Amino acid sequence: MVSIRTGHISITGNFRENNEDSYVVDESQRYFIVADGMGGQNAGEKASALAVELIPKQLEQLLKFDGGPKAEIVDAIDQSVDYANSEIMSLSEVDPSARNMGTTVVFLVRAGDNFYIGGVGDSRVYLLRNGDLQQMTKDHSLTQALLEAGTINAEEAKTHRYRNVLYRYLGTKDGSSGTDASEIKPEPGDRFYLCSDGVTDGIGDEQIQELLVCSDDPQEIAQKLVDAALEGGSRDNITGVVVIVE
Ligand code: CA
Repeated sequence: MVSIRTGHISITGNFRENNEDSYVVDESQRYFIVADGMGGQNAGEKASALAVELIPKQLEQLLKFDGGPKAEIVDAIDQSVDYANSEIMSLSEVDPSARNMGTTVVFLVRAGDNFYIGGVGDSRVYLLRNGDLQQMTKDHSLTQALLEAGTINAEEAKTHRYRNVLYRYLGTKDGSSGTDASEIKPEPGDRFYLCSDGVTDGIGDEQIQELLVCSDDPQEIAQKLVDAALEGGSRDNITGVVVIVE
């Protein structure tokens, strides 16, 4: 496995009473997950916490971290996310305080020499490679769907009123229809960023790109990205995980 360094932070921000984001950074650096919960009372917190607790448990059982065919790895990831989705749905049916809870999830999973990146919802994974920032995940938002259908353009999408409305997330049946995980071979110098939409609520891709190279210390980068999002007017919880490939 290639050597990596990571930084991570999650803050409530200035406008919310609680932090509905959750994340996990595996001690053995095999997986990284960011989840952004939604639902009344404390339901959002519960849903995102469940996602970052249950998905790793399943991955530990199902996934061959020393590598294997892409189809097998992706299947293990999809099953793990599917399991978390079912648990979240079940709990939301039996617990009135958790009714209608849901969560997004994005992940970077390492198996053998490859990274597997995907998710459900509108949290994102970015890759900065050779000076180019690329969004590696797809937003499952109505705005993104309208953009793809050609109904609106990219400029309109930035401020569109449905940009926070999701058509796929965990806590619904559609949460189980796969994570669109892509396989990528990491290269020295690659910088990955997993984040909740609280980051992109405050800053755009250009600023993310700049800040991802503002330091060699991943924790400092994670902190600066969150600070910039806050300063940029984010009204949401803000969470980010930085992964630097050596
Ligand atoms: Ca959010």
